[in-house]
Amino acid sequence: MSDCLFCKIVAGEIPSSKVYEDDVCLAFNDIDPQAPTHFLVIPKTHIGSVAEVSADNSAIVAHIFEVIAKITKEKNIESYRVVSNIGEQAGQSVPHLHFHVLAGRDMTWPPG
Ligand code: 5GP
Ligand code: ZN
Repeated sequence: MSDCLFCKIVAGEIPSSKVYEDDVCLAFNDIDPQAPTHFLVIPKTHIGSVAEVSADNSAIVAHIFEVIAKITKEKNIESYRVVSNIGEQAGQSVPHLHFHVLAGRDMTWPPG
């Protein structure tokens, strides 16, 4: 998607602080971190949000969760939160599927 911020990051048109990359997904540090560790994991193909996950693309999401487990293990992060906001009311500001990975501080529940 040509006017999508995260598609531009995937294409290298906008720089990012890369954490991990493979053929399917990219992980990079959030520009406005909400915890000592805060990175995003996104598919390289454009998917709008969790609401657009289907039988056709769910293998990408499964792969992203494998990658989250791998990155956090490598960083010795034992406790963390994975968040994906869907739609305006939930606070989604970038309409390209992304999973926030947050760690390094106490978290509250329920989330705000
Ligand atoms: P959302 O609000 O959609 O759940 O999450 C979008 C996230 O993308 C926010 O946490 C925001 O800080 C992050 N973000 C927005 N623009 C950029 C950018 O240009 N670079 C990086 N690294 N993160 C961004
Ligand atoms: Zn996109």
